[in-house]
Amino acid sequence: MTISCRSAGRDGAMETDAFIVTIDGPAGSGKTTVSRLVAEKMGFDYVDTGALYRGVAYAAVREKIDLDDDDALGRMCRTLDIRLDRQMDGLHLFVNEADVSGNIRTPEIAMAASAVSARPVVRQFLLQLQRRLGHQRKAVFEGRDMGTVVFPDAAVKFFLDADVKVRARRRHRELAGARHMTLDQVEQEMKRRDHNDSTRDVAPMKVADDAIYVDTAEMSVDDVVELISNRVAEYLQP
Ligand code: C5P
Repeated sequence: MTISCRSAGRDGAMETDAFIVTIDGPAGSGKTTVSRLVAEKMGFDYVDTGALYRGVAYAAVREKIDLDDDDALGRMCRTLDIRLDRQMDGLHLFVNEADVSGNIRTPEIAMAASAVSARPVVRQFLLQLQRRLGHQRKAVFEGRDMGTVVFPDAAVKFFLDADVKVRARRRHRELAGARHMTLDQVEQEMKRRDHNDSTRDVAPMKVADDAIYVDTAEMSVDDVVELISNRVAEYLQP
């Protein structure tokens, strides 16, 4: 099944037969793994909105656009074709028809995503795209502002968190072999990104008033998946 949705089309608020679960939180909080597994378990679609920000950042870097040049970013977004496709081995990100999934998981693109995500023109572009993706879907949306801005009326909201040292250790393990970054470098990069993401003017990362806060530091992935699936199942009951 495809969950592709191109950048042009209808903008919409949530429809009545949609059932949106939002999972927000900082990098390394476990939200990507957990969101994917919860979606699988519940038979929902899974949308990784960080990948969309990384896709915009990747396109901007390739086009050598200054990451704070709103006019140039706006022009780029107007013609940008960005979509997610669910394939056998997971979600793939396509930017202007090229599969860039293998190029967006670098620390450089993560920092560039954090920079472009502070620009209102980029947020507005992706806000519309994300809402279209949620149109009449049962889906788990993972990101930073899913419960606060993109889907304020979501059926159930979670915010996953953990101490930065724990998150840095997890991320360092994930990057092992692929990059030569020390644990300390990973932690410093994570702190910079957390700071950018939580202090920007537009849609900063924060816990929605009605979100369930989960500290994952001492929990296994299975524990978190079970906790979230159980809560979602309660909300699904008539
Ligand atoms: O989740 P991930 O690490 O892939 O996100 C990359 C960056 O995209 C984040 O650091 C954040 O700046 C931005 N982002 C965002 N809002 C979202 C998802 C991601 O600002 N909903």
